Amino acid sequence: MVHKTDSGELVPVIRVIKEKCINCHRCIAVCPVKMCNDGSGDTISLRAELCVGCGECIRICKYGARVGIDDFDSFMQDIKAAKPIIAVVAPAIVANFGNNYLKFNGFLKKLGVKAVFDVSFGAELTIKSYVAYKKKQNPKLIIAQPCSSLVSFIELYHPELIGYLAPADSPMGHIMKAVRKFYPQYADCKIAAFSPCYAKRREFNSVGIGDYNVTFASIKRHLEDTGDNLMNYGDYNYENPPAERGVNFSTPGGLMQTFARYDKNAVYFTRKVEGVPEVYQYLAQLKFFLKEHSPSCYLVDCLNCRLGCNGGPGAINQDRNIEEVEMNTEKRSREVQAQYKRSFFSKKKFERTFARYWQEGLFTRSYVDRSALFREIVRRPSKDEFASAYKRLHKYTENDFLDCGCCGYKNCEQMAVAIINGLNKPEHCWYYIMEQSKKDEERYQSRLKSAIEKIYNRVFEEINGNINGINALLDRITETVSHVNASSSTIETMVYRIQSVNENVKRNAQTVTQLNVSSLEGKGQMLKIGELAGKMAEQSDMLIRISKIIESVYQKTQVLGMNASIEAAHAGDIGRGFAVVAGEIRHLAQTAGTQSKDIEQSLSNIKSLIDKSAASSVNAQNQFERIITLVNAVKEEDGSIAQAVERESDNGKQVIDALTTINQLILTIRNETALLLDSSKTVLENMGSLKNI
Ligand code: SF4
Ligand code: SF4
Ligand code: SF4
Repeated sequence: MVHKTDSGELVPVIRVIKEKCINCHRCIAVCPVKMCNDGSGDTISLRAELCVGCGECIRICKYGARVGIDDFDSFMQDIKAAKPIIAVVAPAIVANFGNNYLKFNGFLKKLGVKAVFDVSFGAELTIKSYVAYKKKQNPKLIIAQPCSSLVSFIELYHPELIGYLAPADSPMGHIMKAVRKFYPQYADCKIAAFSPCYAKRREFNSVGIGDYNVTFASIKRHLEDTGDNLMNYGDYNYENPPAERGVNFSTPGGLMQTFARYDKNAVYFTRKVEGVPEVYQYLAQLKFFLKEHSPSCYLVDCLNCRLGCNGGPGAINQDRNIEEVEMNTEKRSREVQAQYKRSFFSKKKFERTFARYWQEGLFTRSYVDRSALFREIVRRPSKDEFASAYKRLHKYTENDFLDCGCCGYKNCEQMAVAIINGLNKPEHCWYYIMEQSKKDEERYQSRLKSAIEKIYNRVFEEINGNINGINALLDRITETVSHVNASSSTIETMVYRIQSVNENVKRNAQTVTQLNVSSLEGKGQMLKIGELAGKMAEQSDMLIRISKIIESVYQKTQVLGMNASIEAAHAGDIGRGFAVVAGEIRHLAQTAGTQSKDIEQSLSNIKSLIDKSAASSVNAQNQFERIITLVNAVKEEDGSIAQAVERESDNGKQVIDALTTINQLILTIRNETALLLDSSKTVLENMGSLKNI
């Protein structure tokens, strides 16, 4: 029975926290339907209307970027607002909270929930609906429908199977409808379902019953956040009559076991399949199988989750092993079955009870073919579109289709479909990345090659120019070295000469000192000569005066001689001898007069010479004085010259030192320039080999 109308919609039950998503695509890899994931961006986003809510992506996402959506917040808000609410609790409660499941009811009561119902009882009613359907319609195959994810999967992706889906509500649907029908006292209450499944929300929307879907995971978080514990609450029993093996409905095969109450052969005619991806692969292939074969079973007991509803995406025990998960549920199941077996009457009582809460037509469920929505969002591409997508993916030959699954899809074709529909991009294909990087590498290599060539040519020119420049520089350096050497030897000669001048200046200083001494001595001698000349002039004056006296003596002697001669003449012969003496006296007087005149003349000449000598002596003294002054000046200048020469000599030495250093530096520069020349030549050679890469 396929219904084309829908009272609900596929609301989001899973969301992506973009900030946490690293775009690893593992979620796409595990997703049984793939195309609900939009991988065309830098993080994954979800097309909720195509997601079946299996929760597999929550399990696989290591980064916590996938989370489920339930109604915990609105439930708590309404309960705090004292809105009337009753609860229906899934049988998976036992696998999740152990033997405290009745305390869970106590907790709900304490919160303000009016009454608590057991979905296990709904499971018993569900089987009753199946049995009634089989009896009435005798269908070729019944696909169990308690799992909302599988129902969505069939509605969206395999509508050909809708006709095989049991046209009955899920256990949750059964219990909620039974409450509405048989518990009128709660007619004004909203119904909160406590479940291990996010996808349940969609079933509620679709069936039009159920106001809140609150997962066990949210309750556990709430208890932890508030520091609360179920042990703080008392046991509180379910409002409905007790279920029997329906308590095991949440365990894989639980449906089959419950069905077996009515048909022991059910265990042989039931295909039990659960877990992602097995159940999805099974259902996807079933339509093809059924086209060619008659089914070997009449019931498909299928569940999305590997651990059944006990380990649903909203459960709290996915990490526990199967023994731990099923232990308490089986214990409860054995207990209720033992109770059931104990009394034949109680068996009858059970049947009567179930019959009391079951009503023909009350629990009918219809389904919607949503595949048009899928086909609208994910078109089947044309050949040309595929060809263009494969081109974008760099796939040209069979070998390019690796079907490696790195993109998250089953094969390259699925990835191409996603790309064509804007749900992914080539950059997420491993093969594309490899090919693209090869192409990029080739492109970069060719760009690199032409860049190298350009650089080579430019560098070649420049280095060649540099080599010429370096050679010219080396020539200039050699020239400079010879100039510096020449300058050094010139300056050395100059310094040598300065040192010679220094020696001369020192010798001059000695000579000048001696000259000074001699001049002083000369001056002293001239002073003495002056004094002597003065004394001699005085003596000359005296001699001239003596000479005058002699002259007067001469004149008197003359007169005397004359008088004697006259007297001798008078004396005759007697006077003759006397006359001879008087003649001698006159002669002597004449001689003395002549000599006295000569002496006077000579003395006069001598005096004049002595006066001249005295004057010359004074003059010589003055000259000596000037000589001394000049000598002192020369001495002083000699001192300055000596100091200057000394300084120049030192400066010259420093210049020589500096020139020596310059010479060494120039030699170092020359050596390094020669090395630079060699390096430039090597670079040029290497550039040549670089060009040939
Ligand atoms: S698994 Fe999906 S949601 Fe999680 S990080 Fe990877 S791409 Fe993102
Ligand atoms: S919940 Fe399931 S169907 Fe939805 S995105 Fe996750 S893996 Fe896919
Ligand atoms: S080769 Fe690319 S498109 Fe094909 S499966 Fe691998 S990753 Fe996906």
